[in-house]
Amino acid sequence: MFKLAIVGRPNVGKSTLFNRLVGKRLALVDDQPGVTRDLREAEARLGDLQFMVIDTAGLEEADAESLPGRMRALTERAVDMADASLFLVDARAGLLPQDATFAEILRRKGARVLLGVNKAEGRQGADAALEGWSLGFGQPIPLSAEHGEGMGDLYTALQEAMQEVEAQRAAGAVDLEIDEDGAFDEDDEAIEPGAPEKPIQIAVVGRPNAGKSTLINKILGEDRLLTGPEAGITRDAISVEIDWAGSRMRIFDTAGMRKKARVQEKLEKLSVSDGLRAVKFAEVVVVLVDADKPFETQDLRIADLAEREGRAVVIGVNKWDLVEDRQGALKLLTDEFQRLMPQLSGTPVVPVSALSGEGLERLRAAILKARSRWEMRISTAKLNQWLGEMTSSHPPPAPGGRRIKLRYMTQAKTRPPTFIAFCSRPEVLPDSYKRFLVNGLRRDFGMQGTPIRLAWRKGENPYEGKRKKR
Ligand code: GDP
Ligand code: GDP
Repeated sequence: MFKLAIVGRPNVGKSTLFNRLVGKRLALVDDQPGVTRDLREAEARLGDLQFMVIDTAGLEEADAESLPGRMRALTERAVDMADASLFLVDARAGLLPQDATFAEILRRKGARVLLGVNKAEGRQGADAALEGWSLGFGQPIPLSAEHGEGMGDLYTALQEAMQEVEAQRAAGAVDLEIDEDGAFDEDDEAIEPGAPEKPIQIAVVGRPNAGKSTLINKILGEDRLLTGPEAGITRDAISVEIDWAGSRMRIFDTAGMRKKARVQEKLEKLSVSDGLRAVKFAEVVVVLVDADKPFETQDLRIADLAEREGRAVVIGVNKWDLVEDRQGALKLLTDEFQRLMPQLSGTPVVPVSALSGEGLERLRAAILKARSRWEMRISTAKLNQWLGEMTSSHPPPAPGGRRIKLRYMTQAKTRPPTFIAFCSRPEVLPDSYKRFLVNGLRRDFGMQGTPIRLAWRKGENPYEGKRKKR
């Protein structure tokens, strides 16, 4: 059953919410003074969703000196046990330095996080929820555990998380492990502190005959996948996990490796829909094109799909061994891609030969870089300094004689980098100005090859009130 851990610093309302989700009758009432309850786990229900909930409250009784360390250990344990974590902060107290400690644990663990802003009943609750964006866990969910408010939004977020986990489990069930000794075991990670990071999930997609199977075989270093011109070969492999020169990666299989259809047209359709599936699982999408006929409609559709799905993109130009004027060709290809796909401007274009293995190290490096850019986090302070410079060098327009004000910006999420900007009149801010900012972000913070999301909100700087008070 799906497990949800409720985490956060003491007093934010974890137990209150736990009790609400579990139902009063079921909640444990064995609080003996001086005895720490440690982790409590119980079956919970929200609407028609059924799940297990893990409560990390109950440490307040521990002596103050050992509290931070114990709280941290307990949280880590709960997060490891859970499929998702509901990170609670307190709308009344605002964000405290201690909240950042919990955020850091969750981030380091790579946890799936729902951010709940509790005690958000009433008007001031909404403002406090806004502040939650700056934690970088996406849309904050305003809640009142005590009064039962916000349960609808919690339901929606939880349902989404449960569906995602289910989809991942379904995918994992058909994993093809190729690591001979000790294939990677999910449980290892939980036990071993400082366990290796999760593998980078990549999809190699492209038109039939671009050389995808040849490339993957070369990376695997063995003829595991069948290649060649013959049609009718089917394989069921969905993904393989590899150690590629010290980088753990999981490569998702695409239709190019399965030459089921004889008719070219049919094959092309197939490869797009299968490519689509692989793209959904991937963090980095390698769009492999044939140096001889690069960037045909289908290649661009795949790259665009990857962008829309919010994946990092690397362009591999294969069959480089057949290219004569290499320097000229590379420049041409880079410019061409830039022109055709402005939404992925600056994406690395890496020449490779799957056949000879030439350029594979460059490809690996580009994948690692693309992933780290995709996960990039920019501090709110830096963003706002940057925003100030951008708006003073190119002020936003002033429709009707009133200048549009851009007040504040923060990064709401990573993977891909997602920003929220607060603006006096977002509804009249021209798209060209929004693009100007997105392009500027990409250029000035080095986020080439990753989609960037920028959402606009009407409103004031949520921190402004606080600054005045100081
Ligand atoms: P925990 O330490 O995180 O488990 O927090 P508790 O659940 O023990 O709650 C701490 C305090 O906050 C208690 O006094 C609760 O009554 C109060 N509290 C919890 N949820 C809410 C809420 O939604 N609104 C308000 N105003 N108070 C709450
Ligand atoms: P897929 O349909 O994308 O999986 O393509 P394959 O890997 O089956 O390759 C299609 C054809 O292109 C095969 O005949 C390969 O030998 C050939 N090929 C693949 N990579 C290269 C390369 O780097 N150079 C050359 N010259 N041929 C290649």
